[in-house]
Amino acid sequence: MTDLEGQAQHVTRGAGIRAGQERGPGAPAGQRTIRRHNRGLVLSQIAAAPGQTRVQIAGATGLTRATISALVDDLIASNLVIERRPAPARGRPACPLHLNPDGPAAIGIEIKVDRTSACVLDLTGVVRDRRTIDVDNSASTPKAGLRRSCQLASALAASVRLPVAGIALAVPGLVSADGQVFETPNLPGWNGADLRRLLAGMTGRDSVTVDNEANLAALAERWYGIRSTDFIYVSGDVGVGGGVVFGGELFRGVRGFAGEIGHVQVDPAGPVCGCGNRGCLEQVAGKAALLQSAAAADEDELCRHARAGSRRALAALTRAAGALAVAVSAALNIADLPMVVLGGLYARLGEWLAEPLAAQLSLRVVSRAPVEVRVSDLGTEAAMIGAAGCVIRHILASAD
Ligand SMILES: [Zn+2]
Repeated sequence: MTDLEGQAQHVTRGAGIRAGQERGPGAPAGQRTIRRHNRGLVLSQIAAAPGQTRVQIAGATGLTRATISALVDDLIASNLVIERRPAPARGRPACPLHLNPDGPAAIGIEIKVDRTSACVLDLTGVVRDRRTIDVDNSASTPKAGLRRSCQLASALAASVRLPVAGIALAVPGLVSADGQVFETPNLPGWNGADLRRLLAGMTGRDSVTVDNEANLAALAERWYGIRSTDFIYVSGDVGVGGGVVFGGELFRGVRGFAGEIGHVQVDPAGPVCGCGNRGCLEQVAGKAALLQSAAAADEDELCRHARAGSRRALAALTRAAGALAVAVSAALNIADLPMVVLGGLYARLGEWLAEPLAAQLSLRVVSRAPVEVRVSDLGTEAAMIGAAGCVIRHILASAD
C-alpha cells in the first residue's frame, strides 16, 4: 500500500513516455509498459485536476493528442473516466474529463472496541453511503467480528449499486505489513489474528488491505481532509492513535509500527495501561479517563457540560490538552513537523482542546517554530474513509 500513496497527486509535467523512448539506463520500455505508464499518468492527471480537456492533458503530459485520445477512450471504456458536456464556446467544443463517480468503488470498514462502521467511497472520493452498528468487539472473536463487518459491507454494497473493486479494514492495534495483528491492547482476543487472510477468505477476494486505524485516518486526512503534506494526526477514542505524514507519505517506521503516540508515557505515576506500561497518554487523555474526570456518562454529556461552563468538565479537558501537549511535543521535537491534526473524539472536542494544546506546544517545542493545530473535518469517519481510500488510490495508480 505504501508505494501507492500520493501517486495521483504527483503528476510531473511532461512525464509521458513516447514509443521508442527509454525508461531506464539502456533498457527500452516495452509497448505494454509504456501504455500502462501513460494510462496511469492520464488518470492521475484527471484525478489531480478534474475538468481538463484532452488538449490540456496532452500539454501537461507531453504526449501527442492522438495518444491522449486513445488513452482517454480506453479509460472511458474501462468505466474509470467520464466526459461531461462541454461549456458553450466558439469553435469546436472540448469536453471536460472527470473520474467516473459511478465507476469502481471501495468499501472501508473500521472495527472499534464498541462499534463497527463501514462506508462506500466512490472513485472521486465521495462517501456514497455509511453505516454503523453498536457492538462489543472486545467480547467477539476476530472471526465473529469480521463476519459482522462483512454483513455490513454487503448491505452497503447492495444499497449503492456500484461495482465494488476492493475492501479494506481499519483496526485499533499494531498491524504488521502482512495483515497480522501484532498487538491490540483494547481488543485482547484479536492478538495474533491473521485478519487479512480471514477477511480475504470471507469476501472471496485475492487480497484485502488491513491496517492500523490511525494510519488510515492520517491517510484520509492527507487525501480527502486537511490535505497537508506534513503533519502528525492524533485521534482520541477508547485508545489514542497517531499517524505521521511526512513529505506527503505515511511514515511507517522500520517495522510498520510508527506513530503509537497513545503509549507515550505522560505520567510516570499514572494508571497501568493495556500495553503493560504505566501512565500512557491514553490512560490520561483517552475517552474513559476524560469521561471519568469530567463526571460525564458519554461524549454528548461531556460536550453539554463543557458548553454549559461546568468547571469540572473544563478542567478535565484542560488536563487532557496538557497530557496531549507532553506527548505531541515529544514527537514534534524529534520530527520537526509544522502541524497537528486532531481527529476522532479530539475533533469533536476541538473547540476546547485546540487552543490550550497550541499554547502549550508553543512553550514545549524547542525550536519555537510555529505549530498549527487543526481540527479534522472527517471526525470519527476518517479511518474507514482512509481504508476505502487505499483501494481507490490503488485503482488510480494501477489504472487497470
Ligand atoms: Zn500503553
